[in-house]
Amino acid sequence: MKHISIAIDGPAGAGKSTIAKKVAKDLGFIYVDTGAMYRAMALYFIQNSIKAEESDRIEAACDHINVSIQYENQVQQVLLNGENVNHLIRTDEVGQMASASSVNAKVRLKLVELQRCLAADSNVVMDGRDIGTYVLPDADIKIYMTAGVKERAARRYSEYADKGIACDVLQIEKEIRERDERDMNRDFAPLKQAEDAIYLDTSELTIDEVVARIKDLYKNKVEV
Ligand code: C5P
Repeated sequence: MKHISIAIDGPAGAGKSTIAKKVAKDLGFIYVDTGAMYRAMALYFIQNSIKAEESDRIEAACDHINVSIQYENQVQQVLLNGENVNHLIRTDEVGQMASASSVNAKVRLKLVELQRCLAADSNVVMDGRDIGTYVLPDADIKIYMTAGVKERAARRYSEYADKGIACDVLQIEKEIRERDERDMNRDFAPLKQAEDAIYLDTSELTIDEVVARIKDLYKNKVEV
C-alpha cells in the first residue's frame, strides 16, 4: 500500500515543527522531525570534540554513528548509538553545530535513507529543509513554510522566555540569518522551495489557521 506523505520545508523558526506535529496528530500520521536527526549527529561531533570545519573527521565519524528513532506516546525519540538523546539536542550549541555539519554530503546521506524508510512504512508529516526537493520528491503534498526573519526571531525569543532562558532577540536574529544563509547556499540539497510546493507565509497567520489550511489541502487531495 502506498503511504501518504506531507513534506514541510522552510527556514528556522517558521513554525514547521509546531504545525507539522498538530497536522500529524489530527490526521493520525507519524510526525518525523528530521532536524532532530541532524542534531543527534551534531551532538556526537560535539561530544567527540570534532569541529564543523574538520570535514575529514566528520566523515570518518559518520561510520561510527547510528541514528534511529522510536515513538513514545506518539512523540519522536532520537537514539544516538542506542541512547535516547532527546533531552540533549535542543540547545543552541547543538543547533549551530547541526547547521554547520549538515552541509556535509556524507552526514546528509546517512540520514536520508532513514527518512525515506520511515515514509515508505507509514503515513508521515515530515519537516526539514530538503524534504520536498530531495528526500521525498514524490510527496503527496509539499509546503514551503516561511515567515519574516524578525517574526521568526521574536517567536524563538518568546519560546526561550517561556522556558525562563535568558536571551537577546538581536542575537537570535543574527543566528537565524546565519543559519538561513548556510542552509540555502550549501552545495548538496540546499533549502529552497520545490517547484510543486505551496508557499505559506505564516507571519500573519495563527497556528490553527495554518493547520486548517494544510488539512484542507490534504482533504482536497484525497477526495480527488
Ligand atoms: O530544524 P532544526 O532547527 O532542528 O534543524 C537543525 C539544523 O539541521 C538546521 O539548521 C539545518 O541546517 C539542518 N537540517 C537540514 N536538513 C533537514 C533538517 C535540518 O539541513 N532536513
